[in-house]
Amino acid sequence: MKKHDRERKRLEERKKTIAASVPPFEEIVRGSLFERKIKCGKASCHCAQGQGHPVTYLSVTLKGGKTVQITVPKKLLPRVQRWVKNYSDFWSALEQVSEVNRQLLRKRLLDSEPREPRAQ
Ligand SMILES: [Zn+2]
Repeated sequence: MKKHDRERKRLEERKKTIAASVPPFEEIVRGSLFERKIKCGKASCHCAQGQGHPVTYLSVTLKGGKTVQITVPKKLLPRVQRWVKNYSDFWSALEQVSEVNRQLLRKRLLDSEPREPRAQ
């Protein structure tokens, strides 16, 4: 195999690896999680003296600069944490594929548009 073909194969394999790591598209949320301690207001509650109850929020800044905060119930926290991570993993995968495609383009390793879908 010529060096040219080896390099192309390597980059194509790299793209397949990245594509296989992309999280499910429907399990994505943009935003960041933060915790705040809040006092519930009951005089008899321990929080009246010490620290408040920890509450987790998903905070997201929308177009136009408005920030929205949504309370995340404890039982949903693992899922929302995963969704937040998926969002950055998705962008990371986009960037990585984009980088590989730049290399394919720069190194002239691309064919012209195939007429049929390539065999896998
Ligand atoms: Zn309380």
